[in-house]
Amino acid sequence: MKFSVGLGKDGAEKRLEQNGVSRRDFMKFCATTAAVMGMGPAFAPTVAEALTQKRRPSVVYLHAAECTGCSEAVLRTVSPYIDALILDTISLDYHETIMAAAGHKAEEALHEAVHSPEGYICVVEGAVPTIEDGAWGKVAGKSMLDIVKEIVPGAKATICIGTCSSYGGVQAAAPNPSKAVSVSKALGGVTTVNLPGCPTNPFNFVGTVVHYLTKGVPELDSDGRPSLFYGESVHDNCPRLVHFEADEFAPSFASEEAKKGYCLYELGCKGPDTYNNCPKVKFNQTNWPVEAGHPCIGCSEPDFWDEMSPFYEQS
Ligand code: SF4
Ligand code: SF4
Repeated sequence: MKFSVGLGKDGAEKRLEQNGVSRRDFMKFCATTAAVMGMGPAFAPTVAEALTQKRRPSVVYLHAAECTGCSEAVLRTVSPYIDALILDTISLDYHETIMAAAGHKAEEALHEAVHSPEGYICVVEGAVPTIEDGAWGKVAGKSMLDIVKEIVPGAKATICIGTCSSYGGVQAAAPNPSKAVSVSKALGGVTTVNLPGCPTNPFNFVGTVVHYLTKGVPELDSDGRPSLFYGESVHDNCPRLVHFEADEFAPSFASEEAKKGYCLYELGCKGPDTYNNCPKVKFNQTNWPVEAGHPCIGCSEPDFWDEMSPFYEQS
């Protein structure tokens, strides 16, 4: 278990500038975030204001049983300096994946964050092992289960980034030896804002934070996902849909039909049963799996490792 803490500090725009993020880049980022949220360009200044306001809640970011892929997705994005923007503007300026400090300093920052008058948002990446009272996942003698129990209930909102914290993910795949579960299940059904994906698109994460800061917790579907980002299926917005409707299916990955953009359904695509905005938002606003020629494996659905496999066979 690792944790990271951001303390809603003043002067976010100045720090962004020091990190090489110009006002223009920042506003471009805010306009993209507004678009992902389904708002027009006129909402961009509101996004900017929300991300840099003086009285922001702190962010406590917990890492449980996971591969750190969702953090990597945030850190490896290329445009426009989204890592600096996210890490600084939401005050996540203390993140164990990239920080130098550790030990008592980390504990002090966590204490300060959870006692901040503005409150804190808890972000959890990773599933929670529960077997033997959580003994299979520990740091410094404390189980992930106990840490989640200690931090999550006091948060103003809890965001589960990635499929693991949202639904258990690969840790919870059969036979699930550590009895890993989602954060919600680990805490007896507590409400969390789930941003599943393997990894989560960073813009869905930022959009959720902005929504919380401007309008409160977004409307959630029956699986705890913001309808704003997960309201339509991958299939609904897929550029190969025209071929699906014309019964034009690629017979193999190496086929001419696949190269022509024919539908990947017969090669295992789970897009019709998967809810996410990948075709619209893309990764790095560049591309996404199905457009690159790989079937959707249903990574944003509960229990996808068990329910959606085998990944390369028609369901
Ligand atoms: S490739 Fe997948 S998501 Fe796209 S149209 Fe075919 S089945 Fe639907
Ligand atoms: S296309 Fe499907 S498997 Fe790929 S990231 Fe999107 S939801 Fe996940």
